[in-house]
Amino acid sequence: MQTIADRLINARREIDNAIASANRNPHSVRLLAVSKTKPVSDIELAYEAGQRLFGENYIQEGVDKIQTLKHLTDIEWHMIGPIQSNKTKIVAEHFHWVQSIDRLKIARRLNDQRPENMPPLNVCIQLNIEQEESKSGIVPAELPGLVQEILNLPRLSLRGLMAIPAADVTPQAQHHTLAALQSLYNDLAQQVDTVDTLSVGMSGDMCEAIAHGSTMVRIGTAIFGARQQQN
Ligand SMILES: *Cc1c(COP(=O)(O)O)cnc(C)c1O
Repeated sequence: MQTIADRLINARREIDNAIASANRNPHSVRLLAVSKTKPVSDIELAYEAGQRLFGENYIQEGVDKIQTLKHLTDIEWHMIGPIQSNKTKIVAEHFHWVQSIDRLKIARRLNDQRPENMPPLNVCIQLNIEQEESKSGIVPAELPGLVQEILNLPRLSLRGLMAIPAADVTPQAQHHTLAALQSLYNDLAQQVDTVDTLSVGMSGDMCEAIAHGSTMVRIGTAIFGARQQQN
């Protein structure tokens, strides 16, 4: 049976192959290990194998893990799930990144609640390019306005864009969505100095995402195995 350490090595190898096929710079794609629903012991195994970036979807579960593992001070914790406005405070107090910003109200609350003694919270705006009803995220037309508002919030650092493109589409539709994201990202990175992250690509579409400029892939199943809950 493959261990978490084996699966991490495989995932990194796949990422490196995709980077090479796309003629991109080595080390231009970071791997976020998505540990939602998985026990702390799995995160510790991944940490021992060298993994430092972890992503969580559920606020309370994520905060509990961050507190349990606070002695591992070089872990970078990313919130990647939806945020209700009554939960922003514990997110602002614990996470290093929030990738799922999809409205100004949440951004403002995170800014106001980020503790003084912590660095600005790194944020990505979540886009829903295909305008799928079931997914959070803003449509491209709303992007410039939200970007301007976030740039006025001093306790947030705008790092880029995040998206979860539909999985079961034709290769053409997938290319269309990924190319649109890449173009929005490139424009944003030209305008805003702190922007360096296009978070797109999961276990099933990682190679295509890397071919379209992804700088961070978010991998759960391929590292930790299938989840019990459906998410
Ligand atoms: C669950 C999740 C992932 C990881 O998905 P896998 O298919 O397990 O790799 C990535 N991004 C987000 C936003 C998720 O919710």
